[in-house]
Amino acid sequence: MTTQNVRVAATASGDEPARLKETNMPNETIVQPIRGTFGASDPGPRNFDIDRQNPDIFIPPETDNGSLPNLKFPFGMAHNRLEDGGWAREVTLREFPVSKSMAGVNMRLGPGVVRELHWHKEAEWAYIITGTVRLTTVDPEGNLSVDDLAPGDVWLIPAGIPHSIQGLEEGTEFLLVFDDGNFSENETLLITEYMAHTPPSVLAKNFGVSADNFAHIPKKEKYIFRLPLPQPLEEVRKQLPNRPVSTPYVYPASKLEAKHYKGGSVKTIDSRNFPVTTLSALIIEIEPGGMREMHWHPDADEWQYYIAGEARMTVFDATSKARTFNYRAGDVGFVPRTLGHYIENTGTTPVTVINVFNSRLCTDVSLNRWMALTPPDLIRGHLNLNETVMSALNPDRNAVVGS
Ligand code: MN
Ligand code: MN
Repeated sequence: MTTQNVRVAATASGDEPARLKETNMPNETIVQPIRGTFGASDPGPRNFDIDRQNPDIFIPPETDNGSLPNLKFPFGMAHNRLEDGGWAREVTLREFPVSKSMAGVNMRLGPGVVRELHWHKEAEWAYIITGTVRLTTVDPEGNLSVDDLAPGDVWLIPAGIPHSIQGLEEGTEFLLVFDDGNFSENETLLITEYMAHTPPSVLAKNFGVSADNFAHIPKKEKYIFRLPLPQPLEEVRKQLPNRPVSTPYVYPASKLEAKHYKGGSVKTIDSRNFPVTTLSALIIEIEPGGMREMHWHPDADEWQYYIAGEARMTVFDATSKARTFNYRAGDVGFVPRTLGHYIENTGTTPVTVINVFNSRLCTDVSLNRWMALTPPDLIRGHLNLNETVMSALNPDRNAVVGS
């Protein structure tokens, strides 16, 4: 039985108090928290928009059980820092306590707008969502990179490596994931603040010029600020020494071929194709009716960002704990290391979701493959499965199954 059927059945019970009609969508079926003989109508107060977006929280599947931490936080509920020409918001362990190992930032920079030169204590993985963007970095050997990235491209800035980000013609929106949940975008080490908090006589000695040359440096951070659009990439590169970094910090993942399955496709970005990276990622497309198969990750937490579509995920933990969450574009999800999960497309359009792992390599254990590669009598002895199921077991990787 699907949740859709449950919802229709629940609304047929006919005991809706008049005030439930106070929804701003008069023709919409009013969903009630009723599953068969369980539950009862909710007379309100209710937030219909939140109920509608979270049907498996409001009317959980019968298989849900016990307590699991919250595994969903929408960027739409994260404080947005509006700056001159851009904005930034973050989902860290302060917003989302389960995500101790990773934090995320969603940032928009208009044309020419710069995220100030800075560095931080954490490694930074990035995925370009919209528009084009220019990244600058310098490594400890005195090598440099200046690169333009397009939607679908990624970068990895190791801890302590200085960098800047600038929106190009149409501006840009991107996702950043850091390898510590305690990270804050508001607490990075900034070039303006470093200079402002160094005695001018030290600045003078450091650069070999007199102190009065530093009379006009900013007294405080610039963080996000407007500049004219930069010159074309080749012009800018000519202004700098020809000293390319030995291991690129950027990876043109937009050109990476996805692996296709019956129910969708997966791009894998990890240290096998992007050697510098310490965070690995899957870019997953799930067709309507399709599902990222039941699996878990033996060595990494999974930090999720939903780009398109509607999905649900049940996470399973020891002692019969299971809880189901609903996700849509702009939501963050999280799966603690080793806990079982699937991602099911519950909508009518494709789901696109990014999974970022705090490990260099993407690895997972598939439930189906495990069962296919275990002596059949042992599987039958555990689960009383008939031959239809036994012959459906598949030893090959089938990351996204079809309906
Ligand atoms: Mn950064
Ligand atoms: Mn997973």
